Amino acid sequence: MEPDQHSPARRRLLTGAAALAAAAALTPLTPAAASSRRKRTARARRAASYPPVHWDPASSANYTAANRPTQYAIDTVVIHVTQETFADTLRLFQDPAHKAAAHYVVRSSDGYTSQCVRERDVAWHAGNWSYNTRSIGIEHEGWIDDPKWFTEAMYTRSALLTAAICDRYGIPKDRRHIIGHVEVPGTDHTDPGQYWDWAFYMDLVKGASLWGGGGSLNW
Ligand SMILES: [Zn+2]
Repeated sequence: MEPDQHSPARRRLLTGAAALAAAAALTPLTPAAASSRRKRTARARRAASYPPVHWDPASSANYTAANRPTQYAIDTVVIHVTQETFADTLRLFQDPAHKAAAHYVVRSSDGYTSQCVRERDVAWHAGNWSYNTRSIGIEHEGWIDDPKWFTEAMYTRSALLTAAICDRYGIPKDRRHIIGHVEVPGTDHTDPGQYWDWAFYMDLVKGASLWGGGGSLNW
C-alpha cells in the first residue's frame, strides 16, 4: 500500500475514541480528581439503571423461593394485564390467600414500577409451572378491552425493564422470548389482549438497550 494512502486512514482512526483514550491515559489524575471521577461514574451508572423500581413485596405464600438463574435458567419474559387497579394488584399480591403474584407491576398513569418478587424466586404468574420457573412476569395496570390504560409512559417503563432483564440473562429480544400470558401453553388467560401494541413495545425494548439499564432492586 502507498504511504500516502495509508496515512489518511490512520489519521481517521486516531481522531476517534482511540485518540481520546490515548489522551486521557497521558493525563495523570490527582487522588481528588480520581475520587471525583469515580463518584461521577457511579452517579451515571445509577442514572442508567433505569427504570427505577420500588420494593412492594408479595406475600411469600404467592411464590416459590428459589435460586435462579442457577437453579432454573431464565429465558422468557411474560407480559400480563392486571384486570385490577395498580393498588388492588399490590394488595392481592400481599394477600397469602391469593396464590399468585408477578415479579413486577407497572402503573398505567406514569409507568411507576413496583417489584413484588425477587427475580431469583419463582413467581406464580403464568399458570404453568415450567413457564413460571423460566420466566419473569410483568403485570401492567389495566383491562384488556380498554386501550386507554395502555399509556406511552407504561409501555416505555415496561420496555426499559424488559430490556434490562433480557440484558441481565442474555434473553433474545424477540417475540419467542417476550410473550403474552395468552401464549403460555395451557393457559385460559387472554392478556395482554388485542389492544396491547406489540410492534411498538418491541421497538421500545430493542431501542432501550442503547440506554443501558439495570432496573432491579432485588434480583
Ligand atoms: Zn396474566
